[in-house]
Amino acid sequence: MDLQNRINQVKERMNAACIRSGRKMDDVQLIAVTKYVGVEETRAVMDHGLLHIGENRWQNAKEKWEQLHNRGTWHFIGHLQTNKVKDVIGKFTYIHSLDRVALADEIEKKAAALDITQQCFIQLNVAGEESKYGLDPEQLFELARHVSQLPHLQIVGLMTMAPLETDAEATRPVFRELRRLRDELNDSGILNYEVLHLSMGMSGDYEVAIEEGATWIRVGSAIL
Ligand SMILES: *Cc1c(COP(=O)(O)O)cnc(C)c1O
Repeated sequence: MDLQNRINQVKERMNAACIRSGRKMDDVQLIAVTKYVGVEETRAVMDHGLLHIGENRWQNAKEKWEQLHNRGTWHFIGHLQTNKVKDVIGKFTYIHSLDRVALADEIEKKAAALDITQQCFIQLNVAGEESKYGLDPEQLFELARHVSQLPHLQIVGLMTMAPLETDAEATRPVFRELRRLRDELNDSGILNYEVLHLSMGMSGDYEVAIEEGATWIRVGSAIL
């Protein structure tokens, strides 16, 4: 299958998942995760109209970003070391992996220096997997309270990675829980604005994630 067919297939499946769950296709955005490919394939993805690009390491993203950043919106989706914030700040419209106070403080510092507001997702390790990054959901409010004092950092949503399952259906409770946590965060009133987004669902499980309320899905291998 060529790129166009693979993209069409993902979009058809997204659409079917929206219909099944009574959602509008416009409410779900597709991030093309280009970490597996180089500049030319990333350019091709953009030529096919996918303008939200996800990368998980600056080292790997650098050349692609330098050549193509004007054309799209860039999402940093990988674990972020505090000393690497300087590389990604101001370049990626969204950081999906905020998972600790020290990282929030560093983002605040660097965003303040650039006089920008950095939009972030709080990454939660909902399934409690040892191998995964992300904050323990029990610490969500504590981090939110801290972030509420940081004027250059805005929380736009919550993000999670579900465990790798052969049966995508098995991921459903994880996605449902992320949604519940978002609603609970909004009900708490800790942040004086509403947190709208859920970044959840990858190639193996994006349909289930959409059924459970994903507003951003991050899809790599199903496209590239
Ligand atoms: C690689 C990656 C994805 C995409 O994974 P695929 O299974 O290839 O779709 C999504 N999110 C994160 C955080 C990733 O690192």
